[in-house]
Amino acid sequence: MRAQGAKGSTTKSVYFFGEGKAEGDHAMKAILGGKGADLAEMTSLGVPVPPGFTVACACCSAFLRDGSQVDGLEREVDEHLARVERVAGRKFGDAANPLLVSVRSGAKVSMPGMMETILNLGLNDVTVQGLARSTGNARFAYDAYRRFIQMYGDVVLGVPPASFEQLLRSKRLTQGVQSDAELNEESLRNLAEEYKSLVRKSAGTDLPRDPRDQLWGAIRAVWRSWNGKKAIDYRRVNKIADDIGTAVNVQTMVFGNLGDDSGSGVAFTRNPSTGEHKFYGEFLVNAQGEDVVAGTRTPLGVAEMEKCFPQAYRELIRTQERLEHHFTEMQDVEFTVERGRLYMLQTRTGKRTAAAAVRIATDMVAEGLLKQNAALLRVQPEQLNQLMHPVIDGRTKAQPLCVGLPASPGAASGMVVFDPEVAEQRGAKGQSVVLVRDETTPDDFHGIVAARAVLTARGGMTSHAAVVARGMGKCAVVGCKDMEVDLDARLLRVGDHVVKEGEWVTLDGATGRVFLGDLPTTPSEVVQVSHGTLKAEDAPSYKAFATLLGWADGTRTLKVRANADTPADARIARGFGAEGIGLCRTEHMFFEGDRIHAMRRMIVARDEAGRQRALEDLLPLQRGDFEGIFEAMSGFPVTIRLLDPPLHEFLPHGGEESKLLARQLGLTRASLSHIVESLREANPMLGHRGCRLGITYPEITAMQARAVFEAALACRNRGIDVQPEIMIPLVSTQAEFDHQRAIVAATAREVLGRETLPYLVGTMIELPRAALTAGRIASTAEFFSFGTNDLTQTTFGLSRDDAGRFLPTYVELGILADDPFQVLDEEGVGKLIEIAVADGRQARPALKVGICGEHGGEPRSIGFCHTLGMDYVSCSPYRVPIARLAAAQAALSARSPGV
Ligand code: PEP
Ligand code: MG
Repeated sequence: MRAQGAKGSTTKSVYFFGEGKAEGDHAMKAILGGKGADLAEMTSLGVPVPPGFTVACACCSAFLRDGSQVDGLEREVDEHLARVERVAGRKFGDAANPLLVSVRSGAKVSMPGMMETILNLGLNDVTVQGLARSTGNARFAYDAYRRFIQMYGDVVLGVPPASFEQLLRSKRLTQGVQSDAELNEESLRNLAEEYKSLVRKSAGTDLPRDPRDQLWGAIRAVWRSWNGKKAIDYRRVNKIADDIGTAVNVQTMVFGNLGDDSGSGVAFTRNPSTGEHKFYGEFLVNAQGEDVVAGTRTPLGVAEMEKCFPQAYRELIRTQERLEHHFTEMQDVEFTVERGRLYMLQTRTGKRTAAAAVRIATDMVAEGLLKQNAALLRVQPEQLNQLMHPVIDGRTKAQPLCVGLPASPGAASGMVVFDPEVAEQRGAKGQSVVLVRDETTPDDFHGIVAARAVLTARGGMTSHAAVVARGMGKCAVVGCKDMEVDLDARLLRVGDHVVKEGEWVTLDGATGRVFLGDLPTTPSEVVQVSHGTLKAEDAPSYKAFATLLGWADGTRTLKVRANADTPADARIARGFGAEGIGLCRTEHMFFEGDRIHAMRRMIVARDEAGRQRALEDLLPLQRGDFEGIFEAMSGFPVTIRLLDPPLHEFLPHGGEESKLLARQLGLTRASLSHIVESLREANPMLGHRGCRLGITYPEITAMQARAVFEAALACRNRGIDVQPEIMIPLVSTQAEFDHQRAIVAATAREVLGRETLPYLVGTMIELPRAALTAGRIASTAEFFSFGTNDLTQTTFGLSRDDAGRFLPTYVELGILADDPFQVLDEEGVGKLIEIAVADGRQARPALKVGICGEHGGEPRSIGFCHTLGMDYVSCSPYRVPIARLAAAQAALSARSPGV
């Protein structure tokens, strides 16, 4: 298979299912889209797939670029259609036995529900009669026809779906029935007529009669839906390129709604929530696939199918096993049983929770399906975040308001909102909201993104809300049958309970329970085991997690440290596998309790003697903290950074607090405000901070160094293996570094006397000048740690505190691919890092190099650090597992690029 060209290309644009073999899965998906590639693959495997063909993605890109059609496309579509007719034994537009097709989108990356689909295409006033005769079921034929008119009218001709719904509702009313399923043949026949007039009136044109015209209308509508709002929103959130386009799959229709010997279902080869190796799914008798996912009827468990369709069920079990073995991945399949015969309509890699992803990856290694390295690449590091999610405290006495299906784990509380727009508005203001819907549709996507959790009254585990929330790692409870949603009154009702918009509920996505109010939550299983409050043997999802991370540790070359400022955080970090501390921001110790008071006394002191007195009070507090941290990190390095922020951050700026402080310090309010004023800076981030403080107030550096060495010595005397690394912040010249290093060295001599205690003195590299003169700095500095928060700020000239106001627009417009404070800008900031690492190592081959900015916990940035040969990354304790896996993946990709 060759890649497709645009207009003028003579290469092939249409592929019959099962035709040809691509060079690889990736290439195949780029041409045929994920769904097309999987249908092709299934057909080649001999799985029963209704015949059809795929129009390659490139045709969509060409059409959307300038409205053009790839040369020869019409001819190719005709040829393939003829082949479908031959295989299916039915003809398009045939009055006696018409061929009907579905027309579906399918991009390279799955975008569930984000683009359009048209079913039953090929029906018109003549063929509907043929369908009625050939199936012996006129009611079914007219039901299919009215569904087709509605879908085509909506998707291709732009008739508002609500107008069809209105006609349908009045038909139910006049017929005195509750559900569409109860409408008789005559009502459906009349409805089809009413729908046709609606289309004529609303779109100003008739629905095309010729199935070929219908087909082209549908193909173009699928192409156009690539640029629909929900598809664009989805691509933005999931970082999918805008120019790859979607393939179009045209496939023979099979019907699960021909009667009680037919049905449709959706299933996963393993449980997508827990990962348990058990075929898991849902199906409905006498229904189309759409009915199962739309959640309008609550489906049955797939095992029930054995009773209704034993033969088809056995074939389904065999097929799903075969598919999973073939793809060596958990599959999400859609199937239809038509008159007792099984057809597979789709297979794709199933979306799953993080717990399931980890369990499936480790189980598949145990089952011999995967090698360890492949398993490591199966879990996205960022997903592990979900395993660190809180769960509702098991000891809670609260009674659930109602219970639904546990669609996506985690516990979340928020204010109830009933429409996605409100969710989006409130979410943007930082409010916690729970989006409550009767059932969700893809149009709700932006609301789901903004909400903390999703709750629906209808739908099964495979409903839209469940699939989308699970993919995003968001808590969701669906199919809460006892709940009634009153959208007009903006409230939900469960029995006598009424919950109005704005009231709080708490959802437990692991059990499906819904509670009133904002309930306390407890840490996840992984968190509890890591904190030592739960035994590993009692925690199955922890076990899989630990196994996978154990393999990651054996694979990675980067060490992973944590940014931790207190003994408690250091212990948590160790629990998550941190191999030391890469950044201890000592200033954080001064904000706690009475410490801030001593700190303030130091700042307002009029002379060095006054400062010394205040520093003497701070010394024991700081020493105690360091002892706790060394103890938690025995055997691992601890990087302690000297005071960094501008001093005014420690002082109150007016109000009651200032009054109180003036009184405590024995100052008049005027003299206090004079001091505060004198510390005010126009640009504090670029002002008197970092080593500039230590240079003007050397006694601060000396006190901090003393606290480190005294703590280290005390710990060593208690048998603790201490490895202190003292780090100088915001250095831009070697002279600054040397000035501070001399104070540290002199203090060490004083404290250690004759004792030898190995320690390092190094620097943060967080200013471009430091990066560019790294060779000189490394002649005296023993390690570098890249402070990429400041380095990003100073390289871009972009304030890290203010950028949030406009950076999202940059990302939206594509001016920046990502927020550079989240994902390291390799091109610019990365270039400086590269220069600094190379020059630094040239001056000092043993130079230790790490990163401690936020990027140290971001998987792509970790990949970059690996490429540069850094020694370690350092990140917040809860991101340590993510960094361990990301570092392993970086090592594997470096070994075989392109994996
Ligand atoms: C940095 O600048 O990247 C850094 C780690 O220091 P801070 O965030 O404390 O300025
Ligand atoms: Mg910094």
